[in-house]
Amino acid sequence: MIATVEVDLSAIKHNVEQLKRLAPHSQFAAVVKANAYGHGSHIVAPFLNEQVDIFCVARLSEAIALRQDGITAPILVLGGFTQHDNLDDFVEYNLSSLVHSFEQIARLAKSTLTHPLKVWFKLDTGMHRLGFHPDQARAAFEQLQACACVCKPINILSHFCCADELDNALTTVQLARFDAFIAEMADLAPIGMQSIAASAGTLAWPQTQRDLVRPGIALYGVSPFDYHCSGKATGQQLGLRPAMTLKSELVAIREHQQGEGVGYGQIWHSPQSTTLGVIAMGYGDGYPRAVPANTPVLINGRRVPIVGRVAMDMIIVDLGLDSQDKLGDEVIFWGARLPVEEIAEHTGISAYELLTRLTNRAKFHYIK
Ligand SMILES: *Cc1c(COP(=O)(O)O)cnc(C)c1O
Repeated sequence: MIATVEVDLSAIKHNVEQLKRLAPHSQFAAVVKANAYGHGSHIVAPFLNEQVDIFCVARLSEAIALRQDGITAPILVLGGFTQHDNLDDFVEYNLSSLVHSFEQIARLAKSTLTHPLKVWFKLDTGMHRLGFHPDQARAAFEQLQACACVCKPINILSHFCCADELDNALTTVQLARFDAFIAEMADLAPIGMQSIAASAGTLAWPQTQRDLVRPGIALYGVSPFDYHCSGKATGQQLGLRPAMTLKSELVAIREHQQGEGVGYGQIWHSPQSTTLGVIAMGYGDGYPRAVPANTPVLINGRRVPIVGRVAMDMIIVDLGLDSQDKLGDEVIFWGARLPVEEIAEHTGISAYELLTRLTNRAKFHYIK
């Protein structure tokens, strides 16, 4: 099989169960934004529909696509409604929205909706990306509370910026700001659910789990942690199972003489005579062009290095002079025996990005 993204749904199921065991008192939101981190949300989300309490996506368009795929569980749009989004769509498709700005509140204050909108108030505890700064949050919360078209009680959410670094003190600072705000608001009005933990929080900071955990990358069996800071932990070492295997096959095997160059720009010349393998995989399938020389792939149980430049459709590897590999042999770019975390470390491209950038030219294959 040429360029194939193989997704093991039973691994995702295992990961959900494992994460639920780690956060037994919290509801569970599965983050399936960006095509379920490259795994194919049209298949992954319906597969999870009965197992999770909520789905999270980033954009309205992703949420509508989930509804069209038959998702019945609640859906939270983490980006909130934008100035281009129709608020009626949130009501029609029964979606919850993040509220992170005064502009959004002003719009809600003027809106008349057929049903009140379910909202999550986004507190900026330190990421400084979306959300209300603690200095402004009380005023914002009071205004939101006064909007007739908003469901009460209002839920409160925040997001960590450094929870992947196990020794970063900012996480506890962020959590303290979150707690202080909630304590203050609870004197004003009943508070809905609280949520701050994504994968890293769920796995490593149990005190952050609260009413709802929102793991993304961990669902797919990949570690959210900084590779060095976590002692080079992979998802497998955290008790997760990687769901994706990116693979293809050898489409040519050729003798190659010492000193001959290979591929576009001839950026690599072989220091000795060898055997090269050509693989049907390239940046047209989403494998990054910018990988450094010697990035490994797995062929017949051994690691062999990529040589020359990754092209749109093909990748060349040095199989070595004594290679016994045959045409059609399977090549694994990442998967259980070659963790994507290791490829991320090798290439400087995060595992999040490696998974998410795969294109739909690659063939998706699901195993249960
Ligand atoms: C993407 C995202 C998540 C999931 O993050 P992971 O690190 O993949 O677990 C959770 N919450 C918010 C707000 C996000 O944007």
